Amino acid sequence: MDLAFTPEEQAFRDEVRAWVRSNLPPEISHKVHNALRLTRDDMQGWAKILGKKGWLGFGWPKEFGGPGWTAVQKHLFEEECALAGAPRIIPFGPVMVAPVIMAFGNAEQQKRFLPGIASGEVWWSQGYSEPGSGSDLASVKTRAERVGDKYIVNGQKTWTTLGQHGDWMFNLVRTSTEGKPQTGISFLLLDMKSPGVTVRPIKLLDGECEVNEVFFDNVEVPAENLIGEENKGWTYAKHLLSHERTNIADVNRSKRELERLKRIAKAEGLWEDTRFRDQVALLEVDIVALEMLVLRVLSAEKSGKNSLDIAGLLKIRGSEIQQRYAELMMLAAGPFALPFIEEAMEAGWQGDFPGGEVANAPLASTYFNLRKTTIYGGSNEVQRNIVAQTVLG
Ligand SMILES: Cc1cc2nc3c(=O)[nH]c(=O)nc-3n(C[C@H](O)[C@H](O)[C@H](O)COP(=O)(O)OP(=O)(O)OC[C@H]3O[C@@H](n4cnc5c(N)ncnc54)[C@H](O)[C@@H]3O)c2cc1C
Repeated sequence: MDLAFTPEEQAFRDEVRAWVRSNLPPEISHKVHNALRLTRDDMQGWAKILGKKGWLGFGWPKEFGGPGWTAVQKHLFEEECALAGAPRIIPFGPVMVAPVIMAFGNAEQQKRFLPGIASGEVWWSQGYSEPGSGSDLASVKTRAERVGDKYIVNGQKTWTTLGQHGDWMFNLVRTSTEGKPQTGISFLLLDMKSPGVTVRPIKLLDGECEVNEVFFDNVEVPAENLIGEENKGWTYAKHLLSHERTNIADVNRSKRELERLKRIAKAEGLWEDTRFRDQVALLEVDIVALEMLVLRVLSAEKSGKNSLDIAGLLKIRGSEIQQRYAELMMLAAGPFALPFIEEAMEAGWQGDFPGGEVANAPLASTYFNLRKTTIYGGSNEVQRNIVAQTVLG
């Protein structure tokens, strides 16, 4: 595939670059470039800026208020945002649930939910995994019982990313125990402020509370919040997963972090070591190869093909690359790559490189944090099984 862009695409890139440069608050990009802790306000603040411009739903078609960009334009937009140091768009609303609402929701639901996602006002969380139901997602047990015009929900979700900020949550719930497990699942939108919802943080290896357990105790959900048909949720869940896995590949962030890795290695002297440079070169080649794969998936989606199979492949390669750059950064920083220190997340005190950069501040915590990438969105082992079955046959 030719990665050269047309003059129109190049002009589009220039337009996005100029806009991002003048609208991305420098204090936020400073944090992103130096892997410092982002607050809810940082993440949502940027989402709202994008929302105002009509770009938060950057993958949306025009009929739903999106910009109607081509696959290449979406890619260029994401790349420009990542390289400029913009926070990653929190995907649960605009990237995950919105396409499901567009494809399977009714007109009323589209009118009700899409504007809040497009503007960045409403924070969504993902309620798929449960204790005992991660890889084996079809075994979800959280029960939704239809009583009149409501569902009564009881059960527990877990690993809910940033659920402490969540306003709404999309959930896979069990509405039937008959037949195959997949046939008894429904897709339900739940207001997290409803009585009976408890969110409890889980502290992770890197010291952060990025994920949560969410408990439902007789939570009443209006039946009008059911997406599509009862017991057909598995189909909608799979539609969403292809978007999640493509998104997790996050190739643009890897490109940005590759440059950071080089800066750290140069500042610490390891850049002189040809063996180290070899490893960086291998990483760079793999990033370019991944970028080409991402473009293939995006163009397949554009022509309406189901890209779930190759999305798994992207997820595997993208997550491995993220772990490799985090490991190489630790190597490059050498003695500066201290284990996580709480205050460093705020202050970035561990290393002032030339130019006043705090380039290696939370390196160890980034390293630990990125161990997650081969687990979430479907573990890499399970992705390999899927790729083996569906792509290799
Ligand atoms: C940081 C983080 C954030 C997350 N955020 C969310 C979120 O917001 N919402 C949400 O719903 N979920 C979220 N998840 C959950 C995530 O999707 C699951 O952790 C993942 O699907 C794995 O499930 P599990 O944890 O139950 O592990 P298990 O399924 O118990 O797997 C344990 C191990 O066994 C292996 N294994 C399991 N089955 C097979 C098999 N058939 N073949 C080979 N190996 C196998 C796995 O690869 C893994 O190594 C998150 C997870 C993490 C770590």
